[in-house]
Formats: sequence, C-alpha cells, structure tokens
Amino acid sequence: ATATNDLSSFWMPFTANRQFKSAPRMLTRAKGMFYETSEGRPVLDGTAGLWCCNAGHGDPRIVSAIQNQAAELDYAPAFQMGHPLAFTLASRLAQLMPGDLNRVFFTNSGSESVDTALKIALAYHRVRGEATRTRLIGRERGYHGVGFGGISVGGIVNNRRFFGSLLNGVDHMRHTHQPELNAFTRGQPEHGAELADDLERIVALHGAETIAAVIVEPMAGSTGVLMPPKGYLERLRSICDKYGILLIFDEVITGFGRLGSSFAVERFGVIPDLVTTAKGITSGTVPMGAVFARDGIYDAFMHGAPNAIELFHGYTYSAHPLACAAALATLDIYRDDKLFERADSLAQYWEDAAFSLKGISNVVDIRTMGLIAGIELSSRPGAIGERAFEAFLKCYDKGVMIRTTGDIIALSPPLIIEKEHIDQIFNTLAEVLPTIA
Ligand code: PMP
Repeated sequence: ATATNDLSSFWMPFTANRQFKSAPRMLTRAKGMFYETSEGRPVLDGTAGLWCCNAGHGDPRIVSAIQNQAAELDYAPAFQMGHPLAFTLASRLAQLMPGDLNRVFFTNSGSESVDTALKIALAYHRVRGEATRTRLIGRERGYHGVGFGGISVGGIVNNRRFFGSLLNGVDHMRHTHQPELNAFTRGQPEHGAELADDLERIVALHGAETIAAVIVEPMAGSTGVLMPPKGYLERLRSICDKYGILLIFDEVITGFGRLGSSFAVERFGVIPDLVTTAKGITSGTVPMGAVFARDGIYDAFMHGAPNAIELFHGYTYSAHPLACAAALATLDIYRDDKLFERADSLAQYWEDAAFSLKGISNVVDIRTMGLIAGIELSSRPGAIGERAFEAFLKCYDKGVMIRTTGDIIALSPPLIIEKEHIDQIFNTLAEVLPTIA
C-alpha cells in the first residue's frame, strides 16, 4: 500500500464542505484552554475538542498518571482477569452517579457504550422471560454515535440511509424542539413536555409487550443543543414505568460536569435504568466509555443466561489500564478543582454572554445550560449550514474554535474556562456574525 496525503480516511466527512475537507486545520499542541496550530498560532478551545476535554488540555496530573501507568502495567485483559484500577474506577464512578445506577461496564467510546446499553436492555427482558420485548425506541434528532445500534436508534436519517434498514423494530419519537414557541427561552423551554406522549402512540401501535427500551439524550447535543422541555423527562420516565420499558439516558455529552452537575441525571432529577457515557470520563485523553446500570438489570446481563456464551459481550480494551489511570486522574481533578461546581457558578455569566448575541440579524435562537450553548442562525435559502460554517471559519481565523451542526453554532468549552475566555468567545462571535450575509 502507498501512503498518500489524502486525509479522508480519518477525516470525518459529515460536513459536505469541500473547502474544509481539502484544508484540514492542523493542531499540533494544546495546553489549558488553548490549542496551538501548526503555524504556532493559539486558538481558544470553545468546544473542549469534541465536547470531551472537560478538564482542559495537558493537565500534568493526567499526563503523569498516564505515563506512570504505561510503565507499571500497560495492558491487562478484562476477561477472567482484572486489575485494581478498574475496580477503583468503577466504584468512584458509581459514587458520582445519583440513584441506584451502581454497576459499570467499560467500553472505549460513546458508540460502544450505546451498543452495550442496548444489548443490556434486550438481555434484561429476555432473561426475565419477556422475549417479545425487542423493540428499541429512539427520538428524532437523537445522536447516539455511529455503531449499527447508534445509527438505528439515532434520529438522523441521513446517517443511516446508505446502510439500509439496520436493526429491526426501531421507532423514533418526535423530537422536542419547538422553536416557534420557545425561541430565546433561558434554561428549559416552557412548552413541549406533552411530546413525551409520543411514546404512548408507539406503545399503542405495537403493544407495550414488544418494547424493550427507550433511548434519549437528556439534552440533545450534536443535533443542536436542544434543552428538554420542563417536565418532559419526568413524563417519559413515568410512561416507561407504566409499561415496563427501560429508559436509557445517553450522557456522552452531558456527563461529567457539562450542565453544571455530575450528570444530567442529577441536574434534572430523573433516574433512568441505564446511562451511557464516554468523552469527559478521561477528559478526552485516552479513549474510554462506561455504561451505568441498575443492579438487577446488570445482573441479568452478566449472569442471567443459562448458557453464558449467549450473553458474551466485552471489548479487548474494556477497562484499559491507561484509560483507567487517565479517568481516575480526571475524576480527581473534577473533585479537587471543583470543576462541576465551577461550571454551575459560571453558568449565569455564560448565559448572559451568549444572550448578548440576541438582536444580531440571522441569530434566531440562543440556548444555554451549564457550560453549553447553541446559537441558532437562520438558513440561507437552499444552503443549510452555510452561515454557521462561515462563522466557524472566521472565528478560527480570529483564534476561537467553535463547532457547527447545521445552522447551529455549538459551544462547550473546557470547564476550567475563565470569564475572560468567555468574553473572548462571545466578543469574537459578536464581531463575526454581523459580517455574514
Ligand atoms: N452519544 C452521544 C450523545 C454523542 O454525543 C456521541 C458523540 N458525539 C456519541 C454517542 C458517540 O460517541 P463516540 O464518538 O465516542 O463513539
């Protein structure tokens, strides 16, 4: 094989924009709140990489934990074997998670966490003799990664169209976003809790006894930073309870302090049956994910089948020692530097700074919570996403990294952010947005 300079093998082609594809912006170093480009230029990280570097970049406590672990124990299988860090980490994580979500299964990414959670849900019902419960319910505008499970329950039709019908028996609830009613609402929207009743429609269609689980992001991230309407998650929980359907929260983005709380579970006070996580668990340093499950559910998965091989699941790199070391150091930083509390105490400043963009033409909605924000722009006719993409390019040239998803600018900085950085992000947007026709 011949190596070429075509970067498409690792270049995520989800933005159709050729300009971006042909000219990747090269990042060579990172420290604290800043990336450094290959030209040596600092770029303020307004997105925590891909919503993951919650503890900022290059913290020496994480760096040395990884280095020391590499020298101590580079690898250990998680099948029939273990290593102490994995157990310490599992119990630290369970302590952080509210409710009775006490069991932890390690994966290497958000997509793997989603597949794992879906399999746990299916196994749980089957082991209990409810083998008809095989349907999985997602939601329009849900994003759950790129595994076959994730694109099937995911609500982005374009992500799965090419690959055929994928998992059988998947339905999607209506999404909760109602811009015409909730534009420029601060915090959770007033309108839309009744959209949870769309689950009742699906139950009526197929029968509750066919449905295994519902998966939602408690706050949808990658499809535009969409807040759950007030009362929506509570209503979803109670419908699931009524019919014996498991509720899965995908907290790959909302976990680890993003909303000013450990998890969205804590923030919204609604306890699901399973929670998927990744990203912030190691602050983006070493790939890792984790699925949290309630005791009985996990036990059914791990020990329930008469023939254990039928429930075989796990990854070569589950609970990888380097990832465990990185995660433990990251959790120490979250605790010692009180980063979740910090996200919460900066949330008002963040929200006010974001709302200072209200009034700029083309800005049609602003949504924030904790240290996340979605700034929605109107579409250019026939050119969805172009305005936001232009903003991305211009902000990058001015030294601020933002992210776009369609016409929405998404911001999710490291939780170590200072007020001056918040000012820099929104001042840059205030300069750039009025220049976009
Ligand atoms: N679920 C959610 C809610 C996500 O935001 C993402 C990634 N953005 C994933 C799953 C997939 O995670 P990964 O890219 O680590 O597979």
